[in-house]
Amino acid sequence: MIKLENIHKKFGDLEVLKGIDIEVKQGEVVAIIGPSGTGKSTLLRCINFLEKADEGNIEIDDLKINVKNASNSDILKMRKSTAMVFQSFNLFKNKTVLQNITESLIVVKKIDIDEAKKTGMEVLKQVGLEDKWNNYPSTLSGGQQQRVAIGRAMALNPKVILFDEPTSALDPELVGEVLDLIKQLAKKHMTMMIVTHEMNFAREVADKIIFMTDGKICESGKPKELFRNPQKYETSKFLKRFR
Ligand code: ATP
Ligand code: MG
Repeated sequence: MIKLENIHKKFGDLEVLKGIDIEVKQGEVVAIIGPSGTGKSTLLRCINFLEKADEGNIEIDDLKINVKNASNSDILKMRKSTAMVFQSFNLFKNKTVLQNITESLIVVKKIDIDEAKKTGMEVLKQVGLEDKWNNYPSTLSGGQQQRVAIGRAMALNPKVILFDEPTSALDPELVGEVLDLIKQLAKKHMTMMIVTHEMNFAREVADKIIFMTDGKICESGKPKELFRNPQKYETSKFLKRFR
C-alpha cells in the first residue's frame, strides 16, 4: 500500500503542493488529472525523491518516511520501490533496447548480467518488442520507445509504477498501443499512479480519479461517479474541456 500524508512542496516562494493526502491500495490504479501547473508532476517526483518534499510522510508497504528527516538509505529504498515513466521516454540513446532495460538491473539492483538479460528479454516479449532487442532507440517509433520505457520500469519489479503523461509526446496514432500496454498491466494488478490528459483512458483503467487544482486535491472518487456527476464546480469546468 502507498500512503501520502500532508505532502507540501515549495519552489522558492511558489507553493506547489499544499498538503496532499492519497492512499493507493495494492493493485489499484489511480489516475491524477487537472489543469497545467497544478503540481501533478511535482507530486509524482516527490514520491520517488526526484524532488524532495518539504513536509509530509510517504509510506510504501513497511517503509515509512517522514520527508523532513529522510536518510539517504531511506531515499534509496524508496527509489528502489518505485519506477517512473516519463512523457519524453528518457531512454539512453547510446544503448540498445535490451541494454536500456538491463542497465539498472545490473548497476542498481546488482543482478548478474546473464540473469538481467533473461529478465530483459522476458519483459520485451511482454511489451511486444522482442525482435527489437538490439535496436537503438532512435530507430524506433515514439510508441515503441515508450513501450521500452514501460518495459524498463516493469523489469525493476517495483511496488508502484508512476506514469507522468506517458502518451503526451506521441503522435495520435501511436497513443493506443501505449495505453493498451498500461491496460494490460492494470489487468495484472500492477499498482500504478498515472498523470494523464486521456480522460477516456482514465475512466476505463482507473479505480480512482484524483482531480488536482492549485496544489490541492479538489475532488476524488470512482471514475463513473466523478466523470458523470462531479461534485465541485472546478471539476465540471475542467471536464467540459474534454467533451
Ligand atoms: P502540466 O500539466 O503542465 O504538466 P503539472 O500539474 O505537472 O503541469 P508541475 O510540473 O508539477 O505541474 O508544476 C507545478 C508548478 O511548479 C508550476 O508552476 C511549475 O512552473 C513549478 N515548478 C515545477 N518544477 C519546478 C522547479 N524545478 N523549479 C521551479 N518551479 C518549478
Ligand atoms: Mg506535468
